[in-house]
Amino acid sequence: MRIRVAEHSGFCFGVKRAVQLAVNSAAEGKVYSLGPLIHNPREIVRLADKVGVINDLDEAVADKSLSEKSPRVIIRSHGVGPQVYARAKELEIELIDATCPFVARVQQAAKNLYEQGFQVVIVGDPTHPEVCGIKSWTADAAWVVSSADEVKNLPNLPMSEKIGVVAQTTQTQANFAAVLAALQDKYAEVYCENTICRATQERQRAAAELAAEVDLMVIIGGRNSANTKKLLQICQASSVPSVLVEGAEELPADLFDGVNSVGVCAGASTPDWIIEEVVVKMTEQNEVMEQEVKRNFAAEMSFVAAAPEAKAEKVVEAAPSLDEMGDDVSFEEFFNHGIKDIHRGLCVQGTVVQVRDNELLVDIGSKSEGILPSNQLLAEEAENIREKFHIGDKIDVIVIRKENKEGYPVLSKRMVDVVQLWDKLAEYKENGTTVTGKIVEAVKGGVLMDVGIRGFVPYSQIDTKFVENVKEYIGQTMSAKIIECDKEKNRLLLSTKAVKLEDQQKQQDTLWSEIEEGQTRKGVVSRLTNFGAFVDLGGVDGLLHVSQMAWFRINHPSDVLKEGDELEVYVMGVDVEKKKISLGLKQLIPNPWSVAAEKYPVGSVVNVTIMRTAPFGAFAKLEPGVEGLIHISQLAVERVEKTEDVVTPGQTVDVKVLAIDTENKRLSLSIKELLVDEAPAEEAAETEAE
Ligand code: SF4
Repeated sequence: MRIRVAEHSGFCFGVKRAVQLAVNSAAEGKVYSLGPLIHNPREIVRLADKVGVINDLDEAVADKSLSEKSPRVIIRSHGVGPQVYARAKELEIELIDATCPFVARVQQAAKNLYEQGFQVVIVGDPTHPEVCGIKSWTADAAWVVSSADEVKNLPNLPMSEKIGVVAQTTQTQANFAAVLAALQDKYAEVYCENTICRATQERQRAAAELAAEVDLMVIIGGRNSANTKKLLQICQASSVPSVLVEGAEELPADLFDGVNSVGVCAGASTPDWIIEEVVVKMTEQNEVMEQEVKRNFAAEMSFVAAAPEAKAEKVVEAAPSLDEMGDDVSFEEFFNHGIKDIHRGLCVQGTVVQVRDNELLVDIGSKSEGILPSNQLLAEEAENIREKFHIGDKIDVIVIRKENKEGYPVLSKRMVDVVQLWDKLAEYKENGTTVTGKIVEAVKGGVLMDVGIRGFVPYSQIDTKFVENVKEYIGQTMSAKIIECDKEKNRLLLSTKAVKLEDQQKQQDTLWSEIEEGQTRKGVVSRLTNFGAFVDLGGVDGLLHVSQMAWFRINHPSDVLKEGDELEVYVMGVDVEKKKISLGLKQLIPNPWSVAAEKYPVGSVVNVTIMRTAPFGAFAKLEPGVEGLIHISQLAVERVEKTEDVVTPGQTVDVKVLAIDTENKRLSLSIKELLVDEAPAEEAAETEAE
């Protein structure tokens, strides 16, 4: 059984501060707390000899009469109303104000709203001291509602009056939102300040998250603590069995029967020492239970290993025959005849008699049927319970609880499997067999993988690439090699990276044995450099040089490719010894110069883009990879002094092809020729018009 403590548990900032102030003050002499310092009876008892508890300031006055000094009274983290400060002044009591700053913020918000003419509504428990204190800052005019239902009982207000809402710091967001929505339905104008404390939210969120992942939640805290009660409600709402305990002595002895994982969370007023005590007790209790089951299990291992007939015999053997029982058999004895002694640790071969979504009903012989909850199956079986089990299936099980609330024995198949699984895993480690399982949880230093038993995969052994976000792996089914398998220490160390490396090696070997010059292969751009791109061909990278990417000039590989691009490449060369592969891309595309003479015959007119200018003319692009020169003398009919006087880069113009030399990739172009051609036509048109 695994015990997991919620990420945020125990003393919050406000309570820690109050306890620290109290302890420091007590070191200087007698000090009182106005009301119990925190909502935790055990911590109060621990502090009793340091801090006296009074319920009224006047009680401290008696102390004043006994001493020269003013009595000192601690205001606890819940805070108080202004009348308490006034009364303390009257009585000359020194106040040590441990009001949590977050509570003071709510008090201030309520006071401001009240002074601005709002009808203040406090969402919270009307009897809680924090709420009573907040209310006092509104001259007791605030309304207190604990749920959305109560809103309908609030008085109506004239349209002109506005509602101002604050929350008790320990409220759940859901309840606060529901009350707010009800108020907005009922009143014309509702202003709200969400004053729920983050410490509370964090504890509630952590508890809810943990409750979703475990079989049982143990909530530690005072029964009179609002935030502890909220944690209990949250865990119960997630349908996981949940128990609230104030200390280790309240843990029921059989609480963990049939449970694989337990979550622990603690209210903001629960000190670390109580959490520690509970966790230690749970660990001890768990060890005792596991030892007991293991002892019984070991005693019956021969039975588990025996042939099915032998098992059946043993079951029958457990009960005397009717003859052996003699003639004086009572009805009860007759009825119970054949029922063997069901006890924790009993191993039997059972028959599945019913398959449900989250449990199996198993006939364990002699008129007994046991419940096998899905958490007592191997993870894969539990997930596919209806596919994996059918009525009539024979399965080996162990009794882990004599009876549940309905009187059924609770069974585990997992425990039986796990014992056998350790032996199998040890064998797999020896012969290097790969195991498959699901990554179920991120833990400190790595992840847990369920291969029937939960094994640990350290960060360094998860992947061949750098693991940025370990949570991406949760839920994935992966294969792993066993690095260490120690049944005694319950230690299973796995490496998913080792399998990936092995797969990569196989892939590489295949690739090197098959790749040849002249082939076309698929690949993925793995990395770009200034001189080209590395393309992953399946475990091996080949180099695609920038000059081999296209028939036209490329300034940088990133102009045409990006990492992750999938593409087909031409294998230009393979050097197995040096492990080098050179690739090309342009070889798979026709060279535009090979068809340029047909596409751009002498005399044809083409629309081109000016790429760059030079003193002797301008270079123009006809298509990617095909450029020609417009000599300066061909730019215009009249003499041109400077190329830029006529064309600029990026401009598009029509040109006439004067000459083409595909071998040397040269094209002569002319704008002037087009202008000369057009001039007589224009003159003719003008003459006609005259
Ligand atoms: S729960 Fe929040 S508001 Fe309450 S005492 Fe703790 S820190 Fe302060």
